[in-house]
Amino acid sequence: MPSPISSRTAIPYIGRFAPSPSGPLHFGSLVTALASHLDAKASNGQWLVRMEDLDPPREQPGAADDILRCLEGHGLDWDGEVIYQSNRHDTYQNCLNDLIARDWAYPCSCSRQDLASMGGIYDGRCRHKQVDLSKPHSLRLKLYDIDDHPSADEIHFHDLIQGSQAQNLRTQAGDQILKRRDGFYAYQLAVVVDDIAQGITHIIRGSDLLDVTGRQLFFFNLLGSQQPAFGHVPLAVQANGQKLSKQNHARAIEIKEASRNLWRGLEFLGQNPPADLAGASTNEILDWGLHYWRRDKIRGLSHLYRED
Ligand code: GLU
Repeated sequence: MPSPISSRTAIPYIGRFAPSPSGPLHFGSLVTALASHLDAKASNGQWLVRMEDLDPPREQPGAADDILRCLEGHGLDWDGEVIYQSNRHDTYQNCLNDLIARDWAYPCSCSRQDLASMGGIYDGRCRHKQVDLSKPHSLRLKLYDIDDHPSADEIHFHDLIQGSQAQNLRTQAGDQILKRRDGFYAYQLAVVVDDIAQGITHIIRGSDLLDVTGRQLFFFNLLGSQQPAFGHVPLAVQANGQKLSKQNHARAIEIKEASRNLWRGLEFLGQNPPADLAGASTNEILDWGLHYWRRDKIRGLSHLYRED
């Protein structure tokens, strides 16, 4: 007898959720976790969790464990072991050494004020300077060829949720910091190195990161890796227009409200969960979400979120 044909696609899919433990999960980060989880599972894929704990001054003690407990409490089970970026400094340094040897990374002595005077887009002025390496300095990635016409620096990509995108690396990004002057490895370095190391094929995340996608795609190429597909889900914003974030002290979501949180998350993502599902168990809500998951129903860059 022929085996039943699955309606799920059989493309290889490894997705991930990559929180920074600067505070507990809030509704916006739960939405991202939920969307990336359902998108992976609806493709019979794996869903990994990576803790982006690269910036100790901004981290809150206990937040990483709290986030994991909260994911579990919402039935969002991950595959494999959680990776912690704080354990991976050697890998980042090896990548940096390689980029320096290939003349793609260079030391930069510019300050925040210097950057502000360039309008916030770094213009590459330290590329050809002799920087005093005994003084604090950062390391930057060359994102474009100075001799080329700026139009050569345009990156085009198709976002799985937001559609067709174009970003100019010279005029909209500028050379990126890979290692900060305080010695910490930068998000832009670690995120791509780890997405490659973990074989990530699909990145579903918040639309606050849509703007940095072009530079990350360039970086995947530079490191000789295939580019993953990206999809950016809407941000939850407060009535004053500010996004919900740990820095804005957004209210932590509570495990005892897990069903309600998941139902609201599905609604936020345009999936139209039926009203009578709201009181169901987390597993029932996630099963419904998986069965009816439609990425094309997600719309917009941000939605108002009311706490009540
Ligand atoms: N760690 C980042 C954050 O919490 C997300 C990184 C990513 O998904 O690429 O904002």
